[in-house]
Amino acid sequence: MAFKPGNVPWNVGTADFWGKVKKSDGCWIWKGAPKQPEGYGLFTINGRQQYAHRYAWELEHGPIPQGLLVLHRCDTPACVRASHLFLGTHQDNVDDCIQKGRRKYARGEEHHASKLTADVVRAIRNLVACGQSQRSVSTRYGVHVTTVSEIVHRKIWKHVS
Ligand SMILES: [Zn+2]
Repeated sequence: MAFKPGNVPWNVGTADFWGKVKKSDGCWIWKGAPKQPEGYGLFTINGRQQYAHRYAWELEHGPIPQGLLVLHRCDTPACVRASHLFLGTHQDNVDDCIQKGRRKYARGEEHHASKLTADVVRAIRNLVACGQSQRSVSTRYGVHVTTVSEIVHRKIWKHVS
């Protein structure tokens, strides 16, 4: 893979960086400023804020190729352990998020639902939380976009967690 020059000066500031990381056998958790509400760590270097997990990936591998995201295998946004991180596209990120949501709810086959069920409601909320547009979700499940919005904002199906 050809690396393009990134915008992160990845060869400086490592002591500062690792001083804010709590290492363990599992995730290495960033203790510095979090970015709310996503929970990703933020690290200020040379007056610029960077995502801590992106910086950690660059420390290990060099600059991130342009246009790619650094994703978490462990689903812990604050984790900066290089072995828990991998490169992907925005679509990979959406797919990964959806997969994790499916595992979490442990059900929810994809199908067009003429009638809403609790599983479909959970799947719809998960897809939107993963960054899919309400319109594309409404098409996917064959429900009106207004219904998707009401589900997401818990105006309807409030009892489904
Ligand atoms: Zn981790």
